[in-house]
Amino acid sequence: MTCDCLSKSLANVTSHIEKGLPNNALDSSLLTRWENSSFRLDTGKSEVMLPVRYEYQKQKVCGELYKNKTKGHVNIAMTFCPMCGEKIEREAE
Ligand SMILES: [Zn+2]
Repeated sequence: MTCDCLSKSLANVTSHIEKGLPNNALDSSLLTRWENSSFRLDTGKSEVMLPVRYEYQKQKVCGELYKNKTKGHVNIAMTFCPMCGEKIEREAE
């Protein structure tokens, strides 16, 4: 992605959060970041991924269900910037 929508948006959100911090908050301690950001080795850039969470129930051989569900997630890379629509270039393209 050659646009800077993600960094601009994060800066805007950070500024908005800063204005709403309570008086006893240490401004310098504020940390904001995108969820599901990853560093792509092929482009050398950070990218935000779209997460898909899943869960399912497993059954033991005796028919009894496992107490807890098995949960996981996969991240899907977006091919266009969700903010401006610019195509996200990949090394292989
Ligand atoms: Zn963009």
